[in-house]
Amino acid sequence: MHPRATVDRALRLSEQGLIDREVARITGVSIGAVQKWRTGHRRTPDKERKHASCPRCHGAKLNERAYAYLLGLYLGDGHISQHRRGVFALSIACGDVWPGLITAAKGAMRRVMPTSRVFGVQRTGMTEVKSYSKHWPCLFPQHGPGMKHTRKIELADWQQIIVDRYPGDFVRGLIHSDGYRGVNRVRRVLADGEHWYEYPRYLFSNKSLDILALCGQALDRLSVAWRFARWDVISVAKRDAVALLDAFVGPKY
Ligand SMILES: [Zn+2]
Repeated sequence: MHPRATVDRALRLSEQGLIDREVARITGVSIGAVQKWRTGHRRTPDKERKHASCPRCHGAKLNERAYAYLLGLYLGDGHISQHRRGVFALSIACGDVWPGLITAAKGAMRRVMPTSRVFGVQRTGMTEVKSYSKHWPCLFPQHGPGMKHTRKIELADWQQIIVDRYPGDFVRGLIHSDGYRGVNRVRRVLADGEHWYEYPRYLFSNKSLDILALCGQALDRLSVAWRFARWDVISVAKRDAVALLDAFVGPKY
């Protein structure tokens, strides 16, 4: 017999999306035990848990770091669609050129809404990472009719608190979904002739002034210098600022 605390811990880790082998290693029990707890405890409690899945409606625990990242992905290039019986789908479009993004988006969705399955739907040149729940609009009250840039986007107080706590994760989400880290080439003509310099920079583009402002505020909080390259593009190009942002966002992977 294992102590109740071990069983609970293992179940929590399983819910967070860890495979049985990892859960077994962390909790120091056999894979068989993890499997038995996970499946044996599933029937009733899972049903109950499904009804208690929402951090807003039922006070379920919210993984704030995963949420800050997912909020960035959602505001950058995600959307919520309504389906039958009050069910909503949260979708994040992940370009195939960023394979790591698909895994990261899936992981964040799973951690934010552990009771819902996460799917990857292959489309041309991209994968739509998708999850169904009745409660996505509770977590993303910015959901509404029309495109995000055609309406006011404001964070609820509880969202702002999380973004202020994890600005790096929020910015990482924004840049992963709607941003770019690339090389800027600049030509300088000096006494000894023409020189080309290359330096990395981040760009974040969005048609919503509100979302651009949220990105700017989070960058300020991280003390990352930024400016508008165009009205709809935020640029981080100073060497120190790029290095600082690399620590939070990292190059495209
Ligand atoms: Zn809810």
